[in-house]
Order: sequence, then C-alpha cells, then structure tokens
Amino acid sequence: MKRFFFGVMMLCGVTGLFAFSLGKYGDFKFEKMGENLYVMRGPVMAPNKENKGFMNNPAIIESEHGLIVVDPGGSYNVGKEVLAEIQKVSTKPILAVFNTHKHGDHWFANKAVAETYPKVLIYADAHMIEEAKAGEAEKWYNILERLTGNLKGTKAFAYPTKALKSGDRVEVDGQIFVVRHPATAHTDTDLLIEHVNSKTLFLGDNVMRGRFGAFDESSSIHGNRKLLEALMKEPEMKLYVPGHGRSGSREETVKPYLTYLQVITEEMKQAYDEELEAYEVMDRVKARLKVYEKWDGIAYTLGRHMDKAYGEIEEMEE
Ligand SMILES: [Zn+2]
Repeated sequence: MKRFFFGVMMLCGVTGLFAFSLGKYGDFKFEKMGENLYVMRGPVMAPNKENKGFMNNPAIIESEHGLIVVDPGGSYNVGKEVLAEIQKVSTKPILAVFNTHKHGDHWFANKAVAETYPKVLIYADAHMIEEAKAGEAEKWYNILERLTGNLKGTKAFAYPTKALKSGDRVEVDGQIFVVRHPATAHTDTDLLIEHVNSKTLFLGDNVMRGRFGAFDESSSIHGNRKLLEALMKEPEMKLYVPGHGRSGSREETVKPYLTYLQVITEEMKQAYDEELEAYEVMDRVKARLKVYEKWDGIAYTLGRHMDKAYGEIEEMEE
C-alpha cells in the first residue's frame, strides 16, 4: 500500500514538474468549457521572450476516436508544450486541425502536431494557404523569432493541407464544423469556425479581449466592425472563443471589441467630416475609450488604428 501511495505521489510530482510554465505569466492548461470542449487561454501580451511567443487560445474538441484542435499555437516549441497538455486531457490521436488565419502565432505549432500525427488533416481558408506560402509565413517567422527567440524547429512550415471556402461543412468523427470566410476583417484570410455539436464559435482574431492586434495591410477595420455587427444579430451560440483573451458569452467577448471598433470608426468619420486629421481628435477618442485603458498595448496601437480607419474612410469617400 505504501508503495502504491508513493507511486501516485511520484506521478503527481512528475506531472507538476512538466506543467506548461511561462515565468511571471504562470502555468497554462486546458480548461473544460463544454461537454467535449477544452480551451487553453494564452497570455494576452504581445510576443516576448517570457511568453515565448505563446499568446493565443488553442482549443480541443474530443470526438469518439480522437481529437480536433483549433489553432495549436505560435511555434514548434510552443506546439510541443501544448501537445503535452493535450495529452493530459486525452491520449486519443489528433485527427484534424483548423487554423483561423494566416498569422503565425496561431498556426506555426501545426509543425509539432504533424510531426507526432503525420496523417493529421489541417484545414484553413484557401486564401490563407496561398498567402502563408507566398511570404506571410516567412514574415511572421522573422517577427516572432526577433521578439521571442523561440522559433527553432518551426521550419519547414507545416502549412494547412485542406483548403476551405465560405459555407463549407466539415465532419470529423461525428463532430460537425461549419466555416465562413468574411471577405476582409482582421485579415483577408479569416475563418469563423462554428462547432455545431457544442454551439461554439471560434472567432479567430476578429475578436480579441484584453489586447488589440495590428490591423495589417490585408485587414479592414470597417469590415471587422460590419462582421461583428452581423454576429450580434444572429441566433446566439453557447460559447465564443476569441483569438486572444478570455472566452465567454457573446456579450462578454464580441461586444467590447465591437464597441472599440465602433468608437474608432465613428470618431474618424466625424474628424474627416470636420476636416480634422486623426491625431487632432486623439483626446476625445481616448475619453470614449477609458474602459480599455488596461488592455495590453493600447498606447501603442490606438494611434495606428485611428490612422488605418481614417485611411479607409478617405478611400471610401473618394
Ligand atoms: Zn492575427
């Protein structure tokens, strides 16, 4: 009996020892969010040495014979940590992976999954695959390597292998996924992934909570706003999983990010109509965005988002 207890304690010790720990950001593990649904909430801070480039929300859906993963993470090394945590939930094989968009912090960890499960099917929007191969993967590799120094092993990239288009329905071992591709929102490669069985919507970076992303040249702040306004009017899902930050109800996840986009676009339209430049209305924009003060990176991103929204209005008005 003594030996049995000793064995159990050893096991617990070993499991604890191999927790996915990121210094001051703490330990990361999958939380049960539905009957067969688990989400690991990554730190929301921009990629740095301490978070090792892990910042997104990998998710797993357990089917009868295996697992389906959404956005496994931002590098090969992160992927190995995430895989170890997945195995604490279930040792079933990973059958499929879905990637929400082209940014490497969401999909570079495909490499670790494909290495362990060479037959895994990796799904993404068709344009995502084209863009990733046309230089986006390389661009993100350089960004993340410079900021985190943790990209070793990530090349050769494990690109998605199965191209999806808006409206496609994918069934994996009894689990049903319906995807849609908004033309341009966070990027022009986004997929919203609905897991029909659990009534969960994976939003990708079209929604973030606790941080703001970059709106790069392939994005549209107005397009993102329109997408979220449409989502608010649809029948409600049980759970909404943003690309970064805490999952929750539609009101808790979609609404705050939508409100931010509405304030920026409304204020920039007003500035444009008043023939003012974006920077000239910074104070009144900041006054309306006080509740976002604690979101990571707002001091850095706000001016950029205002400029981007203003530029979009100029283009629309031309
Ligand atoms: Zn992104």
